[in-house]
Amino acid sequence: MIIAIDGPAGSGKSTIARLIAKDKGLIYLDTGAMYRLVTLKALNKGILGNNDLNYLEEIKKLLDNLNIDIKKNGFYLDNVDVSEEIRKPIVSENVSDVAAIREVREKMVDLQRKFSESKNVILDGRDIGTVVFPNADLKIFLIADAKERAKRRYKELVEKGENVEIEEIYENILKRDKIDSTRKESPLKKAEDAIEVDTTSKNIEEVKNEILRMINE
Ligand code: C5P
Repeated sequence: MIIAIDGPAGSGKSTIARLIAKDKGLIYLDTGAMYRLVTLKALNKGILGNNDLNYLEEIKKLLDNLNIDIKKNGFYLDNVDVSEEIRKPIVSENVSDVAAIREVREKMVDLQRKFSESKNVILDGRDIGTVVFPNADLKIFLIADAKERAKRRYKELVEKGENVEIEEIYENILKRDKIDSTRKESPLKKAEDAIEVDTTSKNIEEVKNEILRMINE
């Protein structure tokens, strides 16, 4: 079984996917984390923000030696658990630019398909229902008002001890929405056969139950 959950940043995808995975005994794959791993690697190598480098060429080179691992207990880059680091604002600031690169997407989509082989999975992302698994058994497209999404992200980061401003998070969400939905390669969009769920004024339990009903139908 394959369940695809797509939608913009902060719409509740990962929270919901994790809960559904637990309830239905599925394996959960957070595909956004994979793009964050590539971005962290590029940041660590000083590729991003360095105008002297041929940014695209350097990213492509980096893909050839990419050592990422998705384990039950976290996300690994070069055998180091970087689950916390990939959520930092500096990664969020740069990830959409990295995810817009065709070669990056091809590699990630390939890894996502391999990871899912012969498994019952739930994946969340931007292009799962449209590109990665167009034949998924169920496709959900989660949306929520941008202000509400910023509030959720702010709460999450503050709980982790990050020193952040809600305004900055709001701006980042709007910026990522724009890059993700207007990029040439697999833009964020609802698959024709996806079911849209607006989570703005719903709590997690309500959304979870709504999706569980769809799965059990
Ligand atoms: O889900 P999350 O907000 O962590 O994703 C980070 C970024 O990765 C997104 O803003 C988007 O640019 C990119 N992404 C993507 N395709 C996916 C998942 C994430 O382009 N399937």
